[in-house]
Amino acid sequence: MAKVLCVLYDDPTTGHPSSYAREDLPLVPGYPGGQTLPSPRGLGFTPGHLLGSVSGALGLREFLESQGHTLVVTSDKDREGSEFDRELADTDIVISQPFWPAYLTAERIARAPRLKLAITAGIGSDHVDLDAAIEHDVTVAEVTYSNSISVAEHVVMMILSLVRNYLPSHQVVLDGGWNIADCVSRAYDVQGMHVGTVAAGRIGTAVLRRLKPFDVHLHYTDRHRLPREVEQELGLTFHESAADMVPHCDVVTINAPLHPETEGLFDDKLIGSMKRGAYLINTARAKIADRDAVVRALESGQLAGYAGDVWFPQPAPAEHPWRTMPHHGMTPHISGSTLSAQARYAAGTREILENWFADEPIREEYLIIDSGKLAGAGAHSYSTNK
Ligand code: NDP
Repeated sequence: MAKVLCVLYDDPTTGHPSSYAREDLPLVPGYPGGQTLPSPRGLGFTPGHLLGSVSGALGLREFLESQGHTLVVTSDKDREGSEFDRELADTDIVISQPFWPAYLTAERIARAPRLKLAITAGIGSDHVDLDAAIEHDVTVAEVTYSNSISVAEHVVMMILSLVRNYLPSHQVVLDGGWNIADCVSRAYDVQGMHVGTVAAGRIGTAVLRRLKPFDVHLHYTDRHRLPREVEQELGLTFHESAADMVPHCDVVTINAPLHPETEGLFDDKLIGSMKRGAYLINTARAKIADRDAVVRALESGQLAGYAGDVWFPQPAPAEHPWRTMPHHGMTPHISGSTLSAQARYAAGTREILENWFADEPIREEYLIIDSGKLAGAGAHSYSTNK
């Protein structure tokens, strides 16, 4: 029997909800490109309910405990002597969400001799030291596509919000004011702007598709070029690298995984090569941008705005400079954890567990590391130092 250690974010401050704003979720038939939705044999939750916090337990409790497995759920993960650290030593499977990541460092993996499987309930497994996972033969899997569209919607919202100066204008209303000039002296239309994405994978391509009707000029860079018919359909301009692309763009959105090739990519030099007054949206991973270079660029006016939902570390400390820098539209890490997304990644997590316990193969598209090497989605999109 396995011990499953699940690290989830805290319950709402008012307690686990007993009712919800909406009765149900719209039916999503499948993902773009034909990948099917998660298909576990059973579902231990009601879609649309809060699953990603401790009491929600990703809907896994009955499923696991009825088979004799042990499930430990905690949000206590970072402080010295945390419950995560205490429970890890004899854990077989760790599950966590990127929004509240259980950082599986090399040191922690070395202290968990029974650990065989690390599941990311969501997308983005950079909180796991992939080199150490390879070395210790830990399988790493994530629920590919489960929240890609959720993030793409958030990116579009943030682009509009920054360019149109939405948040400061809303604040004027909350403050009881009505100075229109205060609101509009930083407000522009998106129409006609040049918008570029660093990476055109599932999220990046979905962002491009959603922006097309805004009559903008679309650019992208990626390690693999999109099919010619997609480039033509969306009117895309391809650039060999981020450095080639960003000087042409009014808005840049980052949609690449964090790995050795992308860490620190947006430093003073790259940001300095952008148009003065460009906007940068990063919902991928915080460490793709240099924290202090972003602050400097906002203060100098090199960037007109920065928005995103990814921070390092998470949760971000109270004194993190991105909380107080000018012209930002940051949220906590929420874009991929809507109730809609939770239903999909909780189902995908259960599917992975069902496969694991039945000794059946995990879907290729969910695999990041398998049998001591990059595999599936991981082999396509990640790199390691090994
Ligand atoms: P995909 O794997 O579909 O796409 C990632 C793309 O990034 C691939 O096309 C890949 O290229 C490309 N890429 C990798 N390295 C580079 C590079 N050095 N330069 C340019 N392109 C590169 O992933 P998703 O679109 O689903 O997700 C992307 C990332 O978004 C995740 O890894 C995660 O970090 C983040 N994310 C954030 C969420 C949030 O809540 N904020 C939720 C979900 C994801 P190729 O494969 O062609 O080599």
